Amino acid sequence: MTVISPPVMSGKAIARNQFDRAADLIGLESYMRRILTAPFREVQVEIPVRMDDGRIEVFTGYRIQHNGARGPCKGGIRYHPHADHDEVLGLATIMTWKTALMDIPFGGAKGGVAVDPRGLSPLELERLTRRFIQRISIVLGPYRDIPAPDVNTNAQVMAWILDEYSSRQGYTPAVVTGKPVSLGGSLGRDEATGRGVMYVMMEYGRDFGIPLKGSRVVIQGFGNVGGHLARLLVAEAGATVIAVSDVDGGIVNERGLDIPGLLAHTAERRPISAWRGGGAISNDDLWSVKCDWLVPAALGGVITREKNAKTIECRVVVEGANGPTTPTADLILAERGIPVIPDFLANAGGVTVSYYEWAQNLQQYRWTHEKVNDELRTTIVKAYTAVRDLAKERAVTFRTAAYAIALQRVAEAERLRGN
Ligand code: NAD
Repeated sequence: MTVISPPVMSGKAIARNQFDRAADLIGLESYMRRILTAPFREVQVEIPVRMDDGRIEVFTGYRIQHNGARGPCKGGIRYHPHADHDEVLGLATIMTWKTALMDIPFGGAKGGVAVDPRGLSPLELERLTRRFIQRISIVLGPYRDIPAPDVNTNAQVMAWILDEYSSRQGYTPAVVTGKPVSLGGSLGRDEATGRGVMYVMMEYGRDFGIPLKGSRVVIQGFGNVGGHLARLLVAEAGATVIAVSDVDGGIVNERGLDIPGLLAHTAERRPISAWRGGGAISNDDLWSVKCDWLVPAALGGVITREKNAKTIECRVVVEGANGPTTPTADLILAERGIPVIPDFLANAGGVTVSYYEWAQNLQQYRWTHEKVNDELRTTIVKAYTAVRDLAKERAVTFRTAAYAIALQRVAEAERLRGN
């Protein structure tokens, strides 16, 4: 089993550091800073699971609701050995800014279970999911808190969540998003995060003279976000994806990887590094592949001062993952003139289409895939444009501009509610 080294800086610390810079820019009052940096509600549970061999193993799970001023809390559930309180809180906080920046009527939450799901059988995974939902269902609900997929959780896990919640409350499809289409999921949800990343790259490329067609892209992570992004960039934008990696290693081909072939290869649960259409590289080597666009789309805390911020050779970093760049690395990249498109703008396509899924469930009405994509493009381009314009006007980074817009909106909702 591959051991993944933990991030150097916690998700919570990353979110706080970035928050302060934007709060200063908009002159946010100190009492409001306190409200907006602290979580609204935290739940930690122990989850006993009957394993296939009859033993009971106990896992720790978290559901943290950061802020619900603008609507029900919204955010994924991840299964990962390093999931802990600080990481989940940092990710819940990012969700508050993401939903505000996209201007969709949700707040921010996140869930996590400290487990390596690769060590579980499908039945153990199902029992874990059902037990976790039993223990946190009191804080969930279609108008309270709505989970979705994240690292190592997928549409099947969301289907179990729907079933577990509905078995007590009655049929409630809007309690969870990212469901299979046959159970009330939205067309286009599966690819929505990758598609949103591509739309943002298209806009940025046009505005800053790096057209996607023919440009060279490196992607860390080949799961939901990275895999769909790679496919769409090649098929719809004419880009050349030259290197990708997964947890076990990477592959590079300067002439461009055959992405449909690689996706078929990984669909059979084979490691990327065993693919014949390129040369195998280590996860560390991926960072030194020269490219136009570098897209971290795996985990947080992977671009750091110690490891790669001083040596990365790309024209733009696009944060497909949540929190991939530590604040110090962010400053180093800025000094080196490498812009960073922040996570809560770049990867907001998933939660945006989750919002459409929720709305379709409440209406019991289905949108076409085309309508989903059109609405996604309109919403994410509007957010991108607002960030681009504020960044230019105030001479700040995209990240600080995006934070300032989001903070302003959440603070306004808090004030209107009387806080
Ligand atoms: P996933 O589990 O589908 O895929 C993760 C990928 O990263 C896999 O290919 C895995 O092998 C790879 N990976 C894991 N550790 C690695 C390492 N150390 N080095 C290289 N590769 C590694 O997860 P996902 O849903 O694609 O999420 C990826 C990131 O995007 C996470 O940060 C998540 O929070 C964020 N995100 C996901 C969504 C979504 O809709 N799925 C939305 C917004 C943000």
